[in-house]
Amino acid sequence: MFKIGCHLSISKGFLKMCRTALEIGGNTCQFFSRNPRGGKAKKINEKDIEAARIFMQENHFAPLLAHAPYTLNACSADASIREFAQRIFKDDLAMLEYLPGTLYNFHPGSHVGQGVETGIKQITEILNQVLSEKQRTTVLLEGMSGKGSEIGSRFEELRQIIDGVEFSDKMGVCLDTCHLYSAGYDVVNHLDDVLEEFDRIVGLTRLKAIHLNDSMTTLGSHKDRHEKIGQGSIGVEAMERMINHPVLRDLPFYLETPNELSGYQEEIQLLRSLYQGESAFVENM
Ligand code: FE
Ligand code: FE
Ligand code: ZN
Repeated sequence: MFKIGCHLSISKGFLKMCRTALEIGGNTCQFFSRNPRGGKAKKINEKDIEAARIFMQENHFAPLLAHAPYTLNACSADASIREFAQRIFKDDLAMLEYLPGTLYNFHPGSHVGQGVETGIKQITEILNQVLSEKQRTTVLLEGMSGKGSEIGSRFEELRQIIDGVEFSDKMGVCLDTCHLYSAGYDVVNHLDDVLEEFDRIVGLTRLKAIHLNDSMTTLGSHKDRHEKIGQGSIGVEAMERMINHPVLRDLPFYLETPNELSGYQEEIQLLRSLYQGESAFVENM
């Protein structure tokens, strides 16, 4: 089954969000665990979450992907910002226990001049404080474009973070096609090589989700500018190869392209038409 969705607002609750995902042709979606600038989490509405869980089951949804706020920086030089990151992590993971099997994605952070080694140490320290053996959420490191002092644009860095985590079975990776390309991984001309490299360094079993975005910038630009599918430097043919690649095609894909709902709907439709071998049975469901 093709698992496809896009970034949606959760402001009207989980059930409403999942209904919207289905209406635009998706069977999953991504949402911010709270205000992207890092504000308070919404109060947990157990009834809403339970209704969403049932709705997802009935409609054969893939896991939802919660995205931590952009402002969360687990390797800030400022200890109070790191403490804030830790608190958000903890609260978000507690909230997500109400919807078992959800994925939780975060940007590893920017070391702001402290150096990669120190940054990685601080990230793993926080993960070791917030992860628990019994949690049912998988925490994903997002691969980054490498702008500024961002950590996680190299597979080696992702691997080093995972290696420092005690409950590393709770850890996975989310690759963002725009970020990969900006980071210098040529998913347009050498997709197989990039995936082989990822497998060698991190391991493909860690790969749990894909952010499917085109890019406004060139290979290795280290800029982070998402573009609509087919309108950027990656292009629709490379997108088609990615969603159909044997090691990627069963993963959930989440669009984070600059779109309103109707634009997302069109992109989902386009991608569905490019996805090979979807049986009529599944399509009719
Ligand atoms: Fe992100
Ligand atoms: Fe992303
Ligand atoms: Zn991005």
